[in-house]
Amino acid sequence: MGVFRSVARPVILAAGRQDGLRRAAERLPVTREVVHRFVPGESVADVMDSVEQLRNSHRLVSIDYLGEDVTDRETAEATVAAYLQLIEAFSTRGEAAAGVRPLEVSIKLSALGQALPRDGEKIALENARAICEPAQRAGVWVTVDAEDHTTTDSTLSVVRELRVDFDWVGTVLQAYLKRTHADCQDFAAPPGATSGRGARIRLCKGAYEEPASVAHRDSAAITDSYLRCLTVLMAGSSYPMVASHDPEIISAVPALARENGCGVDDFEYQMLYGIRDGEQRRLADEGNNVRVYVPFGTQWYGYFVRRLAERPANLTFFLRALAERRR
Ligand SMILES: Cc1cc2nc3c(=O)[nH]c(=O)nc-3n(C[C@H](O)[C@H](O)[C@H](O)COP(=O)(O)OP(=O)(O)OC[C@H]3O[C@@H](n4cnc5c(N)ncnc54)[C@H](O)[C@@H]3O)c2cc1C
Repeated sequence: MGVFRSVARPVILAAGRQDGLRRAAERLPVTREVVHRFVPGESVADVMDSVEQLRNSHRLVSIDYLGEDVTDRETAEATVAAYLQLIEAFSTRGEAAAGVRPLEVSIKLSALGQALPRDGEKIALENARAICEPAQRAGVWVTVDAEDHTTTDSTLSVVRELRVDFDWVGTVLQAYLKRTHADCQDFAAPPGATSGRGARIRLCKGAYEEPASVAHRDSAAITDSYLRCLTVLMAGSSYPMVASHDPEIISAVPALARENGCGVDDFEYQMLYGIRDGEQRRLADEGNNVRVYVPFGTQWYGYFVRRLAERPANLTFFLRALAERRR
């Protein structure tokens, strides 16, 4: 796993940024079959089937319309339109709730225009607002995903702006970044803070290839940072969203919650669609809030490559499927 992390992972993640490879992969039917394990479909109708199944097994959902690194305004607007269609489909389920909201959308600011020249951040903020307004009416939460570290300052600044009008907007912090412990302190509103209630924070390890100058790169150091950040979130008045499949992290949660007086509705577990389904069900059956992150859409390449980079077995499975198809 050490060699995989230090040698193969950077190469796989670099492939995730290659446009030519993306176009080739998206055309291969076999890729689509393997991708299906992580991405249940391309349309709102496909994803609503998954929502139905997950809700029937008492799991909560967060839906991501796939797309990132958008370079023109029209594509960013098309992304907003896709979210509006999704929120409309959510409204028909009549699941609005006052406390923990069962339905959530996850958005990436780079898909909403953040990287556009000149006014990118402002355009992304306006587009995010256009999603938050109908989400508020529909009783749907919005959480802003974290991308590579060059976008963190801009993303957190947009999140702070959004939270002025929509204090339920959440965001993602990545435990591998050295800055994240301080960001958790900022967003968690520690006991005695005068800055109001803490934010909903999804804490994950982080999925991008980052330099040692800004990020922990060793898996033990990342897990250690994760647990220290989670302790800050649990101690404050934030709503921590424990986004991890790692047994070491999941098994540490009950004691941390107990020590900080957190009941089951004061935090939630989150996992990705298609990963550790049995563990998701076990946690939900024990009465915990478990949210499943479900991506959909045609732009699955970047997301899929990050899943391959997380686990040697996924890559082996993918290569084997390709080889079998060639025979
Ligand atoms: C709900 C959610 C939202 C996320 N949002 C973001 C985000 O906005 N930005 C970001 O940078 N990252 C995001 N991530 C990804 C995250 O940063 C990690 O890359 C990913 O979750 C793997 O880390 P882990 O904590 O599961 O631990 P790991 O140490 O990677 O994995 C622990 C165990 O989980 C299982 N597992 C983990 N990954 C896989 C996989 N791909 N396939 C099969 N089994 C696997 C394996 O059993 C593995 O041994 C998100 C993750 C989740 C769960």
